[in-house]
Amino acid sequence: MAKFLEYQGKEWLRKAGLPVPNGRAASSPEEAKKIAQEIGKPVAVKGQVQAGGRGKAGIVKLVNTPEEAERAAREIMAKTVKGLSIRQVLIEEKLDIKKEFYCSFVVNGAREARSPMLMFSTEGGMDIESVPEEQLFKVNIDPIFGLQTYDAVDICAQAGIPAQDLSKFANFLSRLSQTYKKYDCQTLEINPFVLTGSGELVCADCKMEIDNSAVGRHPEFAIKIARDLPGEPTELDYMGWSIEETDSRGTGFLMNMGYDEVSPGYIGYHPIGGGSAMMGLDALNQVGLKPANYADTSGNPVASKIYRVAKSVLSQPNIDGYLLGGFMMANQEQWHHAHAIVKVLREVLPEQKPGLPCVLLLCGNREAESLEILRKGLDDLMVPDGPGKRIEIYGKEHVTDTKFIGERLAALSKEYRAEKDAQGK
Ligand code: GDP
Ligand code: MN
Repeated sequence: MAKFLEYQGKEWLRKAGLPVPNGRAASSPEEAKKIAQEIGKPVAVKGQVQAGGRGKAGIVKLVNTPEEAERAAREIMAKTVKGLSIRQVLIEEKLDIKKEFYCSFVVNGAREARSPMLMFSTEGGMDIESVPEEQLFKVNIDPIFGLQTYDAVDICAQAGIPAQDLSKFANFLSRLSQTYKKYDCQTLEINPFVLTGSGELVCADCKMEIDNSAVGRHPEFAIKIARDLPGEPTELDYMGWSIEETDSRGTGFLMNMGYDEVSPGYIGYHPIGGGSAMMGLDALNQVGLKPANYADTSGNPVASKIYRVAKSVLSQPNIDGYLLGGFMMANQEQWHHAHAIVKVLREVLPEQKPGLPCVLLLCGNREAESLEILRKGLDDLMVPDGPGKRIEIYGKEHVTDTKFIGERLAALSKEYRAEKDAQGK
């Protein structure tokens, strides 16, 4: 999913006419100070990171002066939260909070609903998981007609909003609902939105996620990768997305897994399907090897797509091997894989990675023909001193045999490392 940071989500809310605090993001403590000076009032300094619970993690601070804002920004930007570094802080006018509320718009996938759904609670500010069930109110939203005013009023009344405030709350929720639809969100959570001392409702936080399939309809967002990534995209992530972006024939997924490129023991990882991916990790774990990346070519992808994924997997520097992990029977024609892998290995091994261990496990439909394509296509490389001397090809006899596959990779990569060390590479 394409997720926005709080400050980005708030900018889109502001453009849609919703009330958000005055402020903007800073990339350095000095800039934070400058923004606080411009605002000219006490401010909130909020670490921008793709994770909830920032209040508890100590990366939301309230300060009175620009100097304090600078110091708070410096402290926050030195921290990491759930392994993610904090590159920006949002500086915004501190709110005079009378009460905090919760609302979110999500997709209710239940069979009888299959529609957007509004959740609302007067218990705002805390994790939604800790809000008591009986204090969380829900209403499905008709995907065509939108949130009806009477439904909005009703849900607020049930939650105990006093009569004189009902139209204000219903109006606020209706505008959010329209924004949810306008931006093709998957999730829009405002936790908290607050009632201020002067009686206004303001969005104090914002979690906005855009439906991946709708990203193409929204060039204004300039989303480079319509995917759920844990942090900033890497070069490999961009490569992976470029394979999927314009070609929906089967899955050709590729993603960075935090490969540091200098440590030994990383394998270019190319499983076929989710179950295979788990078994492939099992194979690696058993022998102390690690996946350099995550990948998946399943759902009958065309050979060109498999080729691009495999080539990108193999482009990672310093890997100690390549695993094509076709564990379990996949209900797809395996010869697309066979053709793609032959082409890639013929291109990569001789010049760039001679002798790289390549354990190729392929089974499923057209298995015999596919293994034959691999053998015939790689035959001349698989000779004793050839660039493909560490290619090993396996079929259904090893389809669940993670231990065997792991051990083959471990033995071959040990040999390969020793050979590279001897050559001083
Ligand atoms: P989260 O913990 O990551 O969800 O971060 P939030 O943006 O929800 O902030 C956590 C809490 O900090 C909120 O529930 C508020 O109580 C408080 N807070 C956030 N922004 C402001 C602000 O501008 N003014 C005040 N007074 N409190 C704020
Ligand atoms: Mn929050």
